[in-house]
Amino acid sequence: MGITMQSHTPEWASTLISLLALASRLEDEGHYNLAKLARAAADAMGRRAAYEAVRAAEWQDLAGEIEQVTEAVSRLGLSEELTAALRRGANALAGNRIPSISETPHPFVCRTCGHLVVGAVEETCPTCGAWPDTFQWFAPNYWFEALDPPAALETLRRTPPQVAALLGGLSEEAMTRELGDGGWALRNVVQHLRDAQEVLDHRLELFAGEEHPVLASKAVWTWATQEAERPPTTHELFEDYQATRHKILAMLEALPIAEWWRTGFHEEFGEVSIRQQVSYFASHERTHLPQMESLRHQAAK
Ligand SMILES: [Zn+2]
Repeated sequence: MGITMQSHTPEWASTLISLLALASRLEDEGHYNLAKLARAAADAMGRRAAYEAVRAAEWQDLAGEIEQVTEAVSRLGLSEELTAALRRGANALAGNRIPSISETPHPFVCRTCGHLVVGAVEETCPTCGAWPDTFQWFAPNYWFEALDPPAALETLRRTPPQVAALLGGLSEEAMTRELGDGGWALRNVVQHLRDAQEVLDHRLELFAGEEHPVLASKAVWTWATQEAERPPTTHELFEDYQATRHKILAMLEALPIAEWWRTGFHEEFGEVSIRQQVSYFASHERTHLPQMESLRHQAAK
């Protein structure tokens, strides 16, 4: 870090394109180790330029930003399906609503030529003739694909003791004191982990009872500061969280491996497998550990 990339120069743009073109050529020749370096360089260049350009916009301003960039994407002639999906998503956002999968279907990009398809890839690429499998799916969140079943189980087993250690030795008063971003106390994080797990538990019950369940989307993060029907102490919240974890682990450990690929229909994300749900949940929990560490540090002062 610390090096500002000159992302608005012609050299930046031509280097980016050269790297991607070179990567394709190297893959054709079977030089995959060189191709991976070129692809990583191109990806890093794009992300780094974006990291430097990112603005701390209020969510209310994002709909306007989407509209602007959609105009540009439309002028560049990228894909009418994509610009239409972006506009539907921006409308939902402007109305403070999460767009559904039917409004914002999954995008797929042909790895060979960049042809973009929205929805599902059913035919060979109309531009270059590549097979449907050549297209890259853009998942709504990389956590969906982050953990295979053994890694997900291992993560589910190892997180609760780490949460317990982060609460260890703190008084109820210290755990309830509002400290962090958005006024969260440690208690709110434990509530949030418990709430998210309740959703997973509920969904696994649905999967156990139905072949292809409908999974309603839940705004779980808004529940963490609501106190209705909660165990009174943080310790009891944690005990409750741990008990449900044991139940979920027992259920998943008994699940035949092929069953992890069974899908339900999620209002926001479309077809979602048990494997993706569990990977998402287990990965999401890990991201709250540094937050807890920081809150613990402040609470101990
Ligand atoms: Zn193509």
